[in-house]
Amino acid sequence: MVQPDENAPTPEDLSRYGAGARVLDTAGIVGFFVLAAATIWRAWTGPPMPPVAVLATLGAGYVAADLFSGLVHWFFDTWLSVRTPLLGPMFVRPFREHHVDPLSITRHDFVEVNGSNCLATCPVLVAALAIPPSSLPAQLAALALVALCFGIFCTNQFHRWAHLPSPPRAAKILQDLGLVLGRAHHAVHHQAPYARHYCITTGWLNPVLDSIGFFRGLERVITGITGARARAEDASLT
Ligand SMILES: [Zn+2]
Ligand SMILES: [Zn+2]
Repeated sequence: MVQPDENAPTPEDLSRYGAGARVLDTAGIVGFFVLAAATIWRAWTGPPMPPVAVLATLGAGYVAADLFSGLVHWFFDTWLSVRTPLLGPMFVRPFREHHVDPLSITRHDFVEVNGSNCLATCPVLVAALAIPPSSLPAQLAALALVALCFGIFCTNQFHRWAHLPSPPRAAKILQDLGLVLGRAHHAVHHQAPYARHYCITTGWLNPVLDSIGFFRGLERVITGITGARARAEDASLT
């Protein structure tokens, strides 16, 4: 008979979202919009920028956000615990809860869905704001970071839309155009052991990363260095 794991997270651990986390998340959302607007304004008021370069930069930042979403999703799905201080309740908990109850994200409001990602982008946006807009490469670097952060900000919202039985009309159009994460595409991730299609901004990079075994390779490296076992907490939940 399998003994219960006393370190396994309880349902209360998985569903906890306290007032302190909400205050932090709200501050993160406000910080995101203020810092992004200030960085765009600073780059915009510098020397003129070729529109093609601006569009290419914004596109590259958006694609980078998809890669980043995959790396972060994989990391918090695979390593650490919901009881890890600070990171556990803020970042690990939403991912683990999502596997146990995939529709919980559809019951969360805007602040709970988007707050953590906004908080995480604020230091990057501060760095972008600190880049003097004195040359075209500097302006484009600042805009690339804003596009990356915008994609990261949108990621959980796009992920939520991918789980909604009836997404808003605008979201459905974006899904049908392939500009945001699609429902059928993301459903692949929700097949146990939840170890494919980690990218959840647009999902554009998933076929490439899965076909080359990108995340399995990273896991072998980390296990080889630390001895930690991938998805160890998932095993304690089943
Ligand atoms: Zn996952
Ligand atoms: Zn999902």
